[in-house]
Parts: sequence; C-alpha cells; structure tokens
Amino acid sequence: NGRHLFNEIPEGFPTPGKTTIYDESQTISLEDVPLNGGFLIKVLALSIDPYMRHKMRATNTKSFTPAFELGKPLYNHGVGVVLRSELDGIKAGDHVYGLLSFEQYILQPNADGIEIIKNDENISWSSYVGAAGMPGQTAFVAWKEFSKAKKGETVFVSTAAGAVGSVVVQIAKSQGLKVIASAGSEEKIKFLKEIGADVAFNYKTTDTAEVLAKEGPIDIYWDNVGGKTLEDVIDAANDYIRIIACGAISSYNTTDNYGIKNWGLFFVKRVSINGFVVFDLLPKYREEFFNTIPKMIAQGEIKFLEDRKVGLDKVGEAIYEVQSGTNHGKSVIIVADS
Ligand code: NDP
Repeated sequence: NGRHLFNEIPEGFPTPGKTTIYDESQTISLEDVPLNGGFLIKVLALSIDPYMRHKMRATNTKSFTPAFELGKPLYNHGVGVVLRSELDGIKAGDHVYGLLSFEQYILQPNADGIEIIKNDENISWSSYVGAAGMPGQTAFVAWKEFSKAKKGETVFVSTAAGAVGSVVVQIAKSQGLKVIASAGSEEKIKFLKEIGADVAFNYKTTDTAEVLAKEGPIDIYWDNVGGKTLEDVIDAANDYIRIIACGAISSYNTTDNYGIKNWGLFFVKRVSINGFVVFDLLPKYREEFFNTIPKMIAQGEIKFLEDRKVGLDKVGEAIYEVQSGTNHGKSVIIVADS
C-alpha cells in the first residue's frame, strides 16, 4: 500500500523527498483486511492545493486548518471508489469524495466528511478535485457572496489560469464583466485568452501597475496573491472597489511579508475587503453549486487546465510545483484510473 507521509517541517519551500516522503512499508490484503464496520477505498485522484503548505507547521499552532502530523500520511480532497463496505449507506462500487489520506487504499472507519458522488453529467472523476470540487466551490461561493458584480464592470483576477482563478474568469465573463487576468507563463496567457479574458498578461514580463492603469479602473479584485499586486490594484481602484481576499500565495514560502504602502487610499477609495474560507460559505451555496458547475463543465462552458502526475511517489514534486508556480492548471495526483 503506497503512502505519502509528512516527514519534516520545511523552512521556505518544501523539498520533495525531504519535507514529504513516499513509503511502501505497509501491505494491505484487499480481500481479507477487517473493515470493523467501515469501508475500504481505492483512491483514484488526489488534489494538491496551495494551502497544504500552511498545514506543514507545528501541530500546536492554531489556524483555519489543522497542521499535518509528522510521520503520518498527508491528506486532502480526493476521489476514490469503494471496494468493500460494512457501513450502511455505502456500498462497493460507489464513488466517494472527501478529505482522503494519501494512500493507495484507505481503511475508512466511518463516513465523516465523505460523500457519494453521483456524477450524472459523466465528467472526469478528477474534475471533482478541481472545478467541480473545492477550488471551483471557492470561486463560486465567494463570487456569489462578495462580488456584487454588475454587467459592464471591470474585474481583475490574479493567478487567473489556476484552479480557482480560471473558474472566476469564466463566471465573470458569463455575467458580462470586462476581465483582466494575470498569470506567470505564456502558456497560461494563451489559455486565459481561450476562456475569454479580455486582457491577459504575464505579470513576470509585464508591469501589473501599467496594465491596470491602462485597462482599469478596477471595480472588483479577486486576490490570490497579496503583496505588491494588491498595492497596484489599490492605485488603480475605482471608488467602492470590492476586493475578494482569497489567498496570498506570494507570501506562503517566505517570512519576509510585503507591506502595503498605499493604505491611505483605502478610505479615500472606499475600499471593501472580504477575506473568507470556502468551508464557511459552502453550506449556503452547496446545492446551487452542484446544480450549476458540473453541468457547465459537461457542456464546455467551464474549461480548465489539469496538471496530472501519475503515482503517489510524485506528491512531493507536485507540492513544490504548486508553491513555485510551475504547475500548469489544477494539480492532481492520479493514483488509479478506475
Ligand atoms: P493554482 O492552481 O493557481 O496554483 C498556484 C499558482 O499560484 C501557481 O501556479 C502560480 O501561478 C501562482 N503563484 C505561485 N507563487 C506565486 C507568487 N510568488 N506570486 C504570485 N503567484 C504565485 O492554485 P489554486 O487555484 O488552487 O489557488 C489559488 C489561490 O486561492 C491560492 O492563494 C490559494 O491559497 C487560494 N485558495 C483559497 C481558498 C479559500 O477558501 N480562501 C480555497 C482554495 C484556494 P502563476 O504562474 O500565475 O504565478
């Protein structure tokens, strides 16, 4: 039973093979292992997300999400298929979604946090860790709750080609907004143009402040990065700008946080900022999300890039790539095809 374990708290960027390690020391007999009233899952796809870096810290530190435990498997959102079950309501052949341990086969004692996916739209299983899962939910719920979007307004989305950002871009376009989108490679810019961004630029080769001054003013900012980009947005903000503070990936791997220098403009421009964590808002929009987004994916109205790596031994590499920005789209570990 291959597993991927948390091995060492990193300083700066996580190092594959050091911060986390692949382990094959445990074997499970799939036919005989006692279920003790639970069920046995074969894992198909696991999500690699930026917030996993935040979980690589001492266990006695409190935050919105608990820390990983040293020596134990990592865990995150994933999809699996049930091989055997002794639990009412879950049967062999069911596909399940939830926080799954990073193991090839999981002995799940109960169904806490696990749900059955019906997949009536017949979209790929891995979509359920991307646009049809937590990242897509992030885009959907916070846009609904905070954007107050009106047709004709201008939104700027940073990290726009990623799992969250690309869904935001497509929702905003479907509501008639002008979308300015930034990302860190030419390939990502090409994709952003394909999904309808009106202005797409590589922030590594083009000055964000200059683009926003020309294409703004900005009515809504979807902030995935924090730092200097946020400062540039405030300079280019329209009065009553709504900032949706989704993430701050520019600061995840450094203790050297950027200090916003134009704080004085926050009251002048009547800035409002809403920070959020997806799980707080999900209950309110959950039904609407599942009635809307999988259908849009099936009909090609929501497109996404997927960065697939095959095998649990690739987890460390995938985590590093997401943190350093070299992933191209939603980072997924494919553990098994079916
Ligand atoms: P992505 O799939 O977009 O992957 C991360 C991307 O971040 C990289 O590909 C890179 O894209 C970008 N990046 C990395 N380092 C930097 C940097 N120093 N400066 C700017 N950009 C960088 O990730 P997600 O779509 O899954 O997540 C996007 C954001 O949303 C993250 O900040 C994440 O923490 C946040 N989030 C928040 C949630 C919430 O509940 N509030 C829930 C889920 C996600 P590029 O090439 O464009 O630089």
